[in-house]
Amino acid sequence: SAKERGKNSYHMFAPDLQKITSDKMFIQNELNRALALGELTLYYQPQVNAKDGAIVGMEALIRWNHPERGLVSPDQFIAVAEETGLIVPIGEWVLRTACQQNKEWQNQGLPPIRVAVNLSARQFLKKDFTQMVASTLEATGLSPQYLELEITESTMIDVHRASNTLAELKQLGVHIAIDDFGTGYSSLSYLKEFPLNRLKIDRSFVRDMKKSPGNRAIVSTIISMAHNLELNVIAEGVETDDELAFLQENLCEEVQGYLFSRPLPRDEVTTFMEEQKRRIS
Ligand code: C2E
Ligand code: MG
Ligand code: MG
Ligand code: MG
Repeated sequence: SAKERGKNSYHMFAPDLQKITSDKMFIQNELNRALALGELTLYYQPQVNAKDGAIVGMEALIRWNHPERGLVSPDQFIAVAEETGLIVPIGEWVLRTACQQNKEWQNQGLPPIRVAVNLSARQFLKKDFTQMVASTLEATGLSPQYLELEITESTMIDVHRASNTLAELKQLGVHIAIDDFGTGYSSLSYLKEFPLNRLKIDRSFVRDMKKSPGNRAIVSTIISMAHNLELNVIAEGVETDDELAFLQENLCEEVQGYLFSRPLPRDEVTTFMEEQKRRIS
């Protein structure tokens, strides 16, 4: 009977494997619903000039405003979204929302800044990706120079596809940053071949710089390598004055981290930027 078959198929799975599978399906269903009901939201973390503290950008970071579980961090759902392909519609939503928001800040008379958007490899390597970016910019009215796309070294594994897309994006005029730089175990040869703008030093190297000579060596080496390749550098996860001082001494252009601000909900960003504008003008 169907009941017996159902019972048998139940026993085909080890209990924990079955739990993992159903968790994944549960999250997938919930995520679909979240996207449809507008439960996804973007927080923004300021990126600042290391010399004078001027705001140069905002990184858009996704959150899931879950009705029962509260604010859920991307670490808890991006992997499932990637595996199920849901990252594609979610990623399009993120891009559109971030571009719209940045244009809105400009319309409010705030100094123009970049908005940085995180991309998963699956999204970036899709065939019509550049076209999607181009039509999003057109629809929102944001100039390409105010959009930065963050990709990771793992995206470079498909060298051929990545290089075509990067050339198209360069043509379009958007900026490209390599996120979590130094953690990806990939060849460095793409750095000299591809049109990139910025390396983003991973937080794991920035953290503990004070105690770790190894971290300091890695950070200063990444910065000088980037400069020799005519790339800019931003350090993520900057939490202390010591870390900032070391990055400044080593001529790191930009910094981002709790020392300046945590990621902020949209409405708090406006206040943060207005205060900054007053401080500078
Ligand atoms: P990421 O792009 O490397 O973002 C940096 C993460 O470090 C963020 O975590 C941020 O809140 C956190 N952070 C920033 N400054 C500090 C600091 O000073 N100290 C510490 N301890 N942490 C800091 P978050 O927001 O939880 O995002 C985690 C990851 O999720 C991101 O890492 C990114 O890979 C991914 N992600 C976030 N939003 C999106 C998205 O829209 N699409 C995709 N595909 N991935 C996303
Ligand atoms: Mg990022
Ligand atoms: Mg990062
Ligand atoms: Mg990271």
